[in-house]
Amino acid sequence: MNAFAYVTARSAESAMESVRENGRYLAGGIDLLGQIKEGLTEPARLVNIKELPETGEILPGKAGWRIGANVTLDTLTRHPELRQRFPALAQAADDVGSPQMRVVATVGGNLAQHSRCWYYRHRDVQCLKRGGSQCFARGGMNKYHSLFTGCRCLSPCVSNLAVALAALDARVVVRRAKKTDTLTLAELFSAAWSNAKVHHSLAPSDLILHIELPVQPAVGSVYQQLSERSAFDWALVSCAVSGRLDKGRLRNVRMVLGAIAPTPWEVKAANTSLEGAEPTDAQFEKAAERLLREAVPQEHNGYKIPQARALVRRSLTRLVLSLQGTA
Ligand SMILES: Cc1cc2nc3c(=O)[nH]c(=O)nc-3n(C[C@H](O)[C@H](O)[C@H](O)COP(=O)(O)OP(=O)(O)OC[C@H]3O[C@@H](n4cnc5c(N)ncnc54)[C@H](O)[C@@H]3O)c2cc1C
Repeated sequence: MNAFAYVTARSAESAMESVRENGRYLAGGIDLLGQIKEGLTEPARLVNIKELPETGEILPGKAGWRIGANVTLDTLTRHPELRQRFPALAQAADDVGSPQMRVVATVGGNLAQHSRCWYYRHRDVQCLKRGGSQCFARGGMNKYHSLFTGCRCLSPCVSNLAVALAALDARVVVRRAKKTDTLTLAELFSAAWSNAKVHHSLAPSDLILHIELPVQPAVGSVYQQLSERSAFDWALVSCAVSGRLDKGRLRNVRMVLGAIAPTPWEVKAANTSLEGAEPTDAQFEKAAERLLREAVPQEHNGYKIPQARALVRRSLTRLVLSLQGTA
């Protein structure tokens, strides 16, 4: 057991000050405490951020909602108005792990969680992400890994919320240095695309404060995932879609895939291919093909391509049915 100090921060500034010397923010602890127990990290200080003001609330608004970083996943799933207005987000939260975990795990922690790659999570393996020189998933056991990446690391982003929030055009409000930045989900993860050593674009002292969700009239949303087990498991592939119907034609569709790239995976050309289109199986198939066209399967993860195509078709079908009021 390694000794560490434990402090409870009462303001964002004091949290950021406290975390600077080899500290880590502690929210629900589902990811961080696991890492400490497995000997993957040895922080000198745990900075409890659960007492930070205004980070535990969901604030509905006419133009947009604000969801605090410390809101638990369980709270997201149980909020009736949120379920109705942002079904993809509620479903994505619902599909995380187990009920016991969702009661504890937070929005901020889910977005900032570290890679689940089994090489990264093995205390005796010094992989690329942990400062080594090699990605052992390349040419190794890569069943759960990425179909797309801009660097040598094959570890995918497995945050359910990242996928749903990207499809909902959310923003992540982050306190960093002396300013507050508002990031898209693509920006929150863009650094992991090109830098094998990071999990997201946050520096160690950057603090997620809350999420901003725009209210888009008549827009529906759906989240679905495929996993090996129906509970207590990560997605092999996940998919969130949002959009609306106007006189029977699709408008403003956004499709985002998860667990297949270090970022939530979105292709603009695939989205625009559905603009004004009739919602038919053939259109859905074409859009899915565009979304996955550049995929580079590894030896053991090629199965993710047909899974992802099926998920895109299913999610779009479900979206249309829900917009037509029949699902
Ligand atoms: C068995 C199991 C199954 C799981 N299945 C899924 C799944 O299907 N889908 C999924 O998405 N996740 C899954 N998870 C991961 C789980 O959702 C995350 O570990 C959890 O959401 C983390 O939230 P937390 O509040 O416990 O974070 P913590 O463990 O407290 O923190 C996680 C990381 O985020 C940082 N952090 C926390 N809050 C902030 C903040 N506000 N600003 C900046 N950094 C912050 C911490 O420093 C730490 O590095 C699973 C985990 C387990 C153990």
